[in-house]
Amino acid sequence: MGVFEITVLGSSSATPAYNRNPSAQIINLNEHFYLVDCGEATQNQLNKFKIKSAKIDTIFISHLHGDHYLGLVGLLSTLHLNGRTKEMHIIGPPELKDIIDLQLKVSETQLRFPINFRATQVDYTEVVFQNNDVIVETIILNHRIPTTGFIFKEVTRKRKINTEKLSEYDIPLEYIPLLKNGIDYCDKFGRTIANAELTFAPKPARTYAYCSDTIYTEHFLDQIEGIDFLYHESTFLHELLARAQETFHTTALQAAELAKKANVKQLMIGHFSARYKELDLLLAESQSVFPNTVLAVEGQHYSL
Ligand SMILES: [Zn+2]
Ligand SMILES: [Zn+2]
Repeated sequence: MGVFEITVLGSSSATPAYNRNPSAQIINLNEHFYLVDCGEATQNQLNKFKIKSAKIDTIFISHLHGDHYLGLVGLLSTLHLNGRTKEMHIIGPPELKDIIDLQLKVSETQLRFPINFRATQVDYTEVVFQNNDVIVETIILNHRIPTTGFIFKEVTRKRKINTEKLSEYDIPLEYIPLLKNGIDYCDKFGRTIANAELTFAPKPARTYAYCSDTIYTEHFLDQIEGIDFLYHESTFLHELLARAQETFHTTALQAAELAKKANVKQLMIGHFSARYKELDLLLAESQSVFPNTVLAVEGQHYSL
């Protein structure tokens, strides 16, 4: 099974605080790198954790609060100066395109690489990206401005050939691609051998959801039901519930309640308010409801 790993680059909400940076994460899926949100100084974080920015081919931006995208034009400029020519996919709110275009225009910069921009919207969920490894769907979040989360669904692998059975039944090699796709074998005498007899089932596809920023809401519960790994913002402790509601954010307790209701396997909390120097209370609060919670720690890898 290939690698499916999340690296946290930023775990702070609103402003940098206590050496914590604003939101950004790298998803490595089979050595393809996806960047989710790009807060200020994301490129410094990439350098610090020795992740080559040239490997990133797709960037997802959840919303246009500065702590989620102010590092984007800086990163694009560096890639340009480093001579990138490979196309970059950017998925985010429609105004993001205008922001990028204006910044490039006033600096008279003509990027050496094309940008393939896909606008998100918040009326309904949709597939916004797809390749051989992954399908990415938006999650409609409820924040002060239009915001989407993203759910990364690994494409189900093909079935694995049982080579012993292949020679036992003397099956021609040209049937292998069909068998991998689950098709039964039918020999020249019209005898059918069930696919399950000749192949092994693939490992289940893994799923990761990124939910930041949002007030507590259960309306996307179906979408995250039973997933492997959920990142959910937990800006405040529950004692500041009123503040969380006012600012359309979530408390650690609420994130844990959502993870529990959705039966996810593991929860990562992040987007911590600058008021918290230590994060142990946030972790303890979440674990009191959902024990399998981890903190988003910058530079740490989380494997699925
Ligand atoms: Zn934020
Ligand atoms: Zn926000």
